Amino acid sequence: MKLIDQLQNKVDRKIYKRGKKYYKQGRVINYNYSFGGPKQVNIKAQVIGSKHYGISLSLELSNNQLVFIGQCSCPYDWGPICKHKVAVAYKFLNEDYSQLDSTSLQKANFNKLVTLSKELSQKEVDLKYFVKGLLADSMVNFKLKLESKDLSLAQLEEVIKERYF
Ligand SMILES: [Zn+2]
Repeated sequence: MKLIDQLQNKVDRKIYKRGKKYYKQGRVINYNYSFGGPKQVNIKAQVIGSKHYGISLSLELSNNQLVFIGQCSCPYDWGPICKHKVAVAYKFLNEDYSQLDSTSLQKANFNKLVTLSKELSQKEVDLKYFVKGLLADSMVNFKLKLESKDLSLAQLEEVIKERYF
């Protein structure tokens, strides 16, 4: 399951909707993150609600399950996950999470794929790739299809896995 869907499943529906809306409205500011490990990211941000709230959030992958640890300065923070945390987590999962969980081709970083395709074409491999989903509001949802006259599908997968996973 995609991590962003896990977020949706873990959070009360109303809270999720509000958090997502906050994100889309650009209310997440002073956002930055750093990786604590390949499966852990620490995010700090502020969210503009009725006041500016400070959020510090850790997202961890444990057995491919998303785990939230964090704090928000809002009064709602007695509950499991407030809308401000949702907004921040949503931003990360929507924009940056390919680095957290690069276990499948679909989640591969777009720039790496561009690099890969350039390298392959230097080897005169006839490689075509199609990227779908660029019109979505983030790059995360893209799907990639690789085709090559010179390489079998299995060989293509081999190259990509060897290099990136
Ligand atoms: Zn909050």
